[in-house]
Formats: sequence, structure tokens, C-alpha cells
Amino acid sequence: MTGTVIRNTGSWYDVRTDDGQLFACKVKGNFRLRGIRSTNPVAVGDRVAIKPTDTGDSPAAKVQASNDKPAAKVQDANDKPTAKVQASNDKPAAKGKITVPEVLPSGLPTALITEILDRRNYIIRRASNLSKQSHIIAANVDLAGLVVTLAHPETSTTFIDRFIASAEAYRVPVALIINKVDLYDEADLSYLDAIMHLYRQLGYTCLAVSAETGEGLDALRDELHGKTTLFSGNSGVGKSTLLNRLVPEARAKTAELSAAHDQGQHTTTFSEMYDLDGGGCIIDTPGIRGFGTFDFEREEVSHFFREIFAIGRDCRFGNCTHTHEPGCAVQKALDNHEIAESRYQSYLSMLEDKDEGKYRERF
Ligand code: GDP
Ligand code: ZN
Repeated sequence: MTGTVIRNTGSWYDVRTDDGQLFACKVKGNFRLRGIRSTNPVAVGDRVAIKPTDTGDSPAAKVQASNDKPAAKVQDANDKPTAKVQASNDKPAAKGKITVPEVLPSGLPTALITEILDRRNYIIRRASNLSKQSHIIAANVDLAGLVVTLAHPETSTTFIDRFIASAEAYRVPVALIINKVDLYDEADLSYLDAIMHLYRQLGYTCLAVSAETGEGLDALRDELHGKTTLFSGNSGVGKSTLLNRLVPEARAKTAELSAAHDQGQHTTTFSEMYDLDGGGCIIDTPGIRGFGTFDFEREEVSHFFREIFAIGRDCRFGNCTHTHEPGCAVQKALDNHEIAESRYQSYLSMLEDKDEGKYRERF
């Protein structure tokens, strides 16, 4: 059976099979990405092969037992007979006469992920700057949607450019979703114009929206239609509000599932996929704001800034860092206002990180 991983809670992966069934899955065996130590071998968006678990022994019984406890506390006398029936029900299974599929408190049957089908791409994030462990945020992504605000609060262009740089590194197209336009004053609106002009000229999709009033949401839906989009954004920019607008039903349903899932066990959701009406889906990564750190060589930084890379071809030296070298075409373009100062500053900030050794050697 094949399906798509739609939710990752750390220990469990929820997989929706191609015929629409939902399974809570564990990973069988040892999947490893070449040369990368990852905290999660499988990610939301992955296409996988699964094998439902048939187990007549303890796991099912244990889960059922623990499931009954809260109810038992409330209605002690009432529940005892039920508990007895269940206990005696389970015995034959334990002897192997009847196989009972393991079922979680959420009601989801369980399965093992036996294979990860080929990935188109994946987006990976270092657990921390100094950590060698990585976390795969999502796989098979068509679009990286970055939700930003130019006011209330203002997302820095450095943050935007770093995000775009990582997306370039993964070769994933970017859409800038500029939210809260209903709150913008005249100055904010002219800044909005400038930002849209800048990034559109570079070839990135820009959408001005308001999750509050609904402005621009039709255009956003059109852009997301049929694609798997990874949503990112700083805290407070309205990512959750926007998601609720785009996929109200899916979110309500998933919240229910979450509540059931989390009973008696502490789980953190790393990533989750929501279906869009009419095709396509959004992958949300609660608590993960950007792509975080990724590995690159100093010379590579300019590859992630399209205009700097293009103009840099005319520099006198092939290994020009565009900082101090004579005959630097990028410096000249800056002087002539052909490259935005903010973009160049973001480029420098990434170079500096490299110099400070924040980004360690490849592993
Ligand atoms: P998140 O941290 O990115 O998930 O942000 P939230 O969705 O929690 O939104 C943060 C705050 O901004 C909330 O008070 C929202 O009601 C508000 N907000 C979100 N989108 C908009 C918008 O388009 N316009 C206005 N005026 N407020 C918004
Ligand atoms: Zn140069």
C-alpha cells in the first residue's frame, strides 16, 4: 500500500493511503539519507509504502487499558464491566487465534513504513547551529510560501533574503505572501510597492493579502492551486490566521485528531499537511519559522542571490566575493543602484555568518 505522510509528531507518522485510509505509522528499519544524520528519516510530504501491523498481543491491550483509565476515574462503578469484557476479549488474540490490529487511542490503525519512494526534493534544517543532527521539514515541495508583514510587526529584509537564499539552495520556487495589508498606512503601502517591485523583478511571486479582510486571498488560492506549498513565517505575521482562512475544515478535523492522538502521551507536532479545496495542499510547520541553517560554502553564497550571481559573472576575478576586490561588477552595480542595497546587505550578512564559523563544514 502506498500513501503520503501528512503529519509528523516525532514518534508517529500519519499516512494517508492513496485510497483514503489513515494509518499511524512507525518506521521499519533504518532509512538514512546519504551523509546526513537526521532526527527524522521520513518527512511530511514523503510518498511511502506501508504495511499494516497485525498484532494480537500486548500493544493493543496496553493502549486500550490506558485509554480506559480517564473514563474509569469519572465513572468508576460503571466502567468495570466494560474493562472486564475488553480484557477477556483480548485473551484469545494473545494466544494467536485472532489477530487484532493495533489501534491507537485516536482510533487510528497502525502500520509500518517499509519504503520511502523517490523524493523530488526535501527541505532540511539543522537542529541547531552546532548540531550535526538535521531535521527534514518537508519533502516533495512545489512552492515555499513565506508569510511576511511589512508592519505590525515588520519582517526584516535580511530574514526574507535568507529564506529566499535557502529556497534557492533547495531549488524550490518562492512566493512572498505579504499579510496584514489592511493595517498599512501610507508609508507602509509605498514600502509594500517597493518590496513587491524589487522581488517581482527578481522573479519571485509576491502577493499582498489580508487574512483579516480577505483581500488578495483569491489570488493566493490561485497561486497555491494544485501545488504542495510549505508555509513559513516569523511569529505574529498571521500564518495561523491565514491557514484557517484557506483550510478551515481540514484544520478543525486535524485539531480533533490531535486531541485524540495526544491523550496520555506527550507529542509535539513537527509538520502537518492540509488539503486545499480543489487540489493542492499546505504543509505547516508549527514552531519552525524559517528554514534555519543550511550548509553552504563561502563561494556559494552569491549563487543564492540571483542578481548578484548574474552580475558577478562580469567581475574581474572568478572567485570575487564582491566585498573589496578591484574590478568588481557587483560593487559597480550597487553604486549605480542596479542592485538593491538591502539585498547586498543580506548577502554580506550570510558571508559574515560563514566567517564567524556559525555554519560549520559539511558533514
Ligand atoms: P502567527 O504567529 O503567524 O500564526 O500569527 P497569528 O495568526 O496568530 O496572528 C497574529 C495576530 O495578527 C493575531 O492577533 C491575528 O488576529 C492578527 N492578524 C493576522 N492576520 C491579520 C491581518 O491580515 N490583518 C490584521 N489586522 N490582523 C491580522
Ligand atoms: Zn565582484
